[in-house]
Amino acid sequence: MKPYKWTTPQLMIEGKSIKHPNGCWIWKDYVDKKGYSNIQASIWGKFYKVSKGHQLSYIIYNGEYDRKLLICHACNNPSCVNPNHLYPGTNQDNMGDKILAGSAKGSRNPQAKLTEFEIRQIRDLLTIFNNVEIASLYNVNARAISDIKVNRTWRHVV
Ligand SMILES: [Zn+2]
Repeated sequence: MKPYKWTTPQLMIEGKSIKHPNGCWIWKDYVDKKGYSNIQASIWGKFYKVSKGHQLSYIIYNGEYDRKLLICHACNNPSCVNPNHLYPGTNQDNMGDKILAGSAKGSRNPQAKLTEFEIRQIRDLLTIFNNVEIASLYNVNARAISDIKVNRTWRHVV
């Protein structure tokens, strides 16, 4: 068996996320159907008794929080684990996340098309990441990303 790859929880968080130009650290590992990062398989999650990447990231970088509260996203991006975008809040505070999680579900539908905004994001990301990495972020196939890259599709978006 391979030895455990991440020697510190910080390295685990950074290794499992992609730093988006908008500041979000997007979880590139497993996300649940609401779009939340999931770390159940990680030893660090077991150690800190949390199952979500954003909870773990908050504790690692900002310290322990009142576990009766939820860790909410100031950026409204459920798969973001940037500790600076996270804050402990009540269920009420978390409504923004919930609404977004609902819409994220829609965009994860295989029939869902990319938006023009996303096309511009993808073109930015292509300078840093490969087709497969970007495809997994937007839940499309790598061919779709390659088509964007060579301007076979979405040529009208500038
Ligand atoms: Zn964020």
